[in-house]
Amino acid sequence: MACIFCKITKKEMPSSIIYEDNSVVVFKDINPKAPVHHLVVPKEHIQSIAHLEANHNEIISKLIYTAKDIAKKEGLSGYKLVFNVGREGGQVIDHLHLHLLGGWPSKENPDTCTA
Ligand code: 5GP
Ligand code: ZN
Repeated sequence: MACIFCKITKKEMPSSIIYEDNSVVVFKDINPKAPVHHLVVPKEHIQSIAHLEANHNEIISKLIYTAKDIAKKEGLSGYKLVFNVGREGGQVIDHLHLHLLGGWPSKENPDTCTA
């Protein structure tokens, strides 16, 4: 049986898709952990970052550029891009995906190094 994200990318399961092209789909996370929380997902089933092979260079680059473009379109000036890898890394869905998180109010970053 196909995985959930394969079903979403093939439109066999509903989701809020905000962008699609021949190799990636971007849709809203069903349980958002930020004001803006999108998932950038390759159409090809790759299990995780730990399962990447040399022929995946192009799709990894595509995920990052797609996230950057969507962030710009949505007016996010700052954001986080996260790959969870494996159960210990918090990965629940075994189909590679890049989390795009943002939309928090701007504030001073207490961790900023002033040295
Ligand atoms: P992971 O922990 O594997 O990196 O992240 C999986 C993400 O997928 C979670 O943030 C979770 O909320 C989201 N998710 C799980 N099932 C579905 C679903 O059926 N539809 C959508 N849109 N998101 C999902
Ligand atoms: Zn899949």
